[in-house]
Amino acid sequence: MKSTWTLPEGYGQKYLIDLKDNKKQFWIVNGLSIGIMVLLLALLALLLWEGALELSSQQLPLQLLVMALGYVAYIPLHELAHGVFMRRYSGKRANYGFTLVYAYAGSECYFTKHDHRVISLAPVTFWGVVFLLLMFLLPVSWRWVAYIWQLFNLSGAAGDFYVFWRLGKEPDTILCQDTGVKMTVFDRL
Ligand SMILES: [Zn+2]
Repeated sequence: MKSTWTLPEGYGQKYLIDLKDNKKQFWIVNGLSIGIMVLLLALLALLLWEGALELSSQQLPLQLLVMALGYVAYIPLHELAHGVFMRRYSGKRANYGFTLVYAYAGSECYFTKHDHRVISLAPVTFWGVVFLLLMFLLPVSWRWVAYIWQLFNLSGAAGDFYVFWRLGKEPDTILCQDTGVKMTVFDRL
């Protein structure tokens, strides 16, 4: 099966994934996000205490600025990674949207389970590798900055992990349309 722009005959809506308005999904995803954050902050404290990461008070103001700017840049770059794979599987450019509180990449295409699972995890995987490499390549005093970016990358991907896991439980016949705000799962009725 391939991703398609027209819903095949006999297909109908099975359920919605709405991480903003569905209370249960909202709390699962935000709980997971906070859990990842707490775990990684505890690990950060351990790494600083162990001396594997270092903080220097001299460079701190500059580092905080770079960290903040990097985070602002990361938000659209995360969505871009979703969009690149949406384009790859649908043949058309994804739709991008940015508001002050969140950003999204979406498409009207009906993606197969396989394709949508790749789209879900593309950003966290790609940027995860980039930040991991930075943690080894940067001077020791800058490594914690890359660590914090990694923390944002992993905790911010809670919604993507949830979608990946949820689709994993579905049969291979499903198709999903992800407009960026809501995701609709279709199957043969
Ligand atoms: Zn994402």
